[in-house]
Amino acid sequence: MSGIYIHIPFCKQACHYCDFHFSTQLGKKEVMVKAIAKELVLRKSEIDEVVETIYFGGGTPSVLSNDEIEYLIQAVYDNYKVIHDPEITLEANPDDLSNNRIIQLSKSPINRLSIGIQSFFEEDLCLMNRAHNAQEAENCIREARTHFDNISIDLIYGIPGMDNERWKANIQKALDFDLPHISSYALTVEPRTALKKFIEKGMVPDVDDEQAQEQFHILVDALEANGFVNYEISNFGKPDYFSKNNTAYWLGKTYLGVGPSAHSFDGTHRSWNIRNNPTYIKKIEENVLPIEIETLSTTDRYNEFVMTGLRTIWGVDLARIESEFGENYLRYINQQSSKFLERDLLAVRGGKLLTTKKGKFLADGIASDLFMINLK
Ligand code: SF4
Repeated sequence: MSGIYIHIPFCKQACHYCDFHFSTQLGKKEVMVKAIAKELVLRKSEIDEVVETIYFGGGTPSVLSNDEIEYLIQAVYDNYKVIHDPEITLEANPDDLSNNRIIQLSKSPINRLSIGIQSFFEEDLCLMNRAHNAQEAENCIREARTHFDNISIDLIYGIPGMDNERWKANIQKALDFDLPHISSYALTVEPRTALKKFIEKGMVPDVDDEQAQEQFHILVDALEANGFVNYEISNFGKPDYFSKNNTAYWLGKTYLGVGPSAHSFDGTHRSWNIRNNPTYIKKIEENVLPIEIETLSTTDRYNEFVMTGLRTIWGVDLARIESEFGENYLRYINQQSSKFLERDLLAVRGGKLLTTKKGKFLADGIASDLFMINLK
C-alpha cells in the first residue's frame, strides 16, 4: 500500500511564523494544477502498489476550486491503482470554508478535512497573521461537523502572550465540537520569518520553551481524558480515526509527493521536488522531473526508524533493529538509551523502546542522542 501527497503551493497571505513553501500569486493556480497533473503522469511507473491515501497539503489546498481538486483526484485515478475507498484528505483554512463550500466538498471525493484553526482567539490569530478570524474558526467547524464524519483541526501552543488559561480555553472549545482528531504543534521560530524579525526587534516576546512544554502536558492530559489517543507526538485521534496518510508515513511505508517542494520515499530513496514554482512548472513542461534524490544509507534508515518510533505509540522495535540493521546497532541503542531509561524518559515494553509520559515532549532530542553517526 502506498500514498500520494499533493503539495498545493499557494496561500492567500503569509502567516508570520511559516517557512513552508508557498506563493501568494494565486493567478498562477491554473497552470500549476496542470503541471501537477502532468507530474502524476510522468511518475506513474514509480508506484507499483495500490494507493490507499491521497493527501492535499500545502500551502493552502482549499484555495483550489472544487473542479481543480477533482481534476487532480481524477489524474490519480487515471494513472495509479487506487483502493476502493481511499482516505482523501484536504487541508483547508477556515476563510475558504463557507457553508456552501463545505456542502460542495462533501459531495466531492474528499472524505477527510484537516482544518487549520490554530487558535479560537483573535489575539493569537492576529499575532500569527492568519487569514481567518475567531468567528470563522468556530462557524466552519460547526458546519463541517454536519457534513463530514472525519475531521481534524490543527491547534498551536506556545504562542507568545497565550497563557495557560487561554490555552485551556482553546482546548475546551475544540472538545466542545466532539471532533475525532486533533493535531497540535508547538510554535517554532524559524529563520527568515516575520515572527523571527519581530522577536529580534523586541516587538513580540520570544517563545518560552518551558511554557510550551507545560501547554503540551495540559493538552495531552485533557485530550486523553476525553478518549483521544496521542498516537504521535503532535497527533491525537479517537480509535479508528488516526490519519491513515500520516500513520503510513511514520510506519515507513512508501509515498509519492507531487508539486513543488513535495517529498517522496520509495523504501530506499528519499527525493524532493524543487521549491520554486516557476522553475517547477518550466521543468515539468519540458518533461523533466525537478527532483533531487538521496539514497538512504543503513545509518540514515536506522536514524529515521528511531526518530519516528520514539515519536509514536508504536515505539522502536528492538528485534527489528537487530534484524534490519545488525547487532552493532542493537548494542549501540541499548547503550545510548540506558541513561534515559534510568531517568524515566524512556521505557521498554513488549520489546519496544518508547518515550514515557515525562519523555514524550523531549522525543526529538532523545532520538538525536540515539542516532548513529559513524557507522555506514
Ligand atoms: S496558511 Fe499554512 S502554509 Fe500558508 S502561510 Fe499560513 S501556515 Fe504557511
